[in-house]
Amino acid sequence: MKRRPSVVEMVWSSHTPNILNQLHRDGERVTVARTGLIDVIARAKKPLSVPDILETLAKRGLDVNKTTLYRDLEFFVKQRMVIGIQLNERQKRYELADRDHHHHVVCTSCDRVEDVKLERELAAEERKIELATKFKIERHALEFFGLCATCQA
Ligand SMILES: [Zn+2]
Ligand SMILES: [Zn+2]
Repeated sequence: MKRRPSVVEMVWSSHTPNILNQLHRDGERVTVARTGLIDVIARAKKPLSVPDILETLAKRGLDVNKTTLYRDLEFFVKQRMVIGIQLNERQKRYELADRDHHHHVVCTSCDRVEDVKLERELAAEERKIELATKFKIERHALEFFGLCATCQA
């Protein structure tokens, strides 16, 4: 029998307790699967795919079924706690909504993804776009595609 880690045993990322408290305040269910899921996403240094999440949960001894995982992901996206990102793959990746602003670099050969920060952010560009289009810009997403070091070799 697999050992089920209790919620208290888990060492949480700094984001996890806030999110769990928010769920609790909203009267939403705080299940072991939801707790594990949000913590895996909160600790990741890059956006995770569903197989990534399942693998990490399994390593923690949490056997979450795929349907539950998809349902919980959908729930967190709806709560605006998690965002889904579509890169050049069939599957989506997920990351915490409440993170420092950043971008992604994606390998077109092996789909490896890393977070990157721009030295100069795009505020000036956003203003130009607002002037040109009369849009009120709320956010932007920007991804860079290329070959990672391994795939160049
Ligand atoms: Zn690669
Ligand atoms: Zn940016």
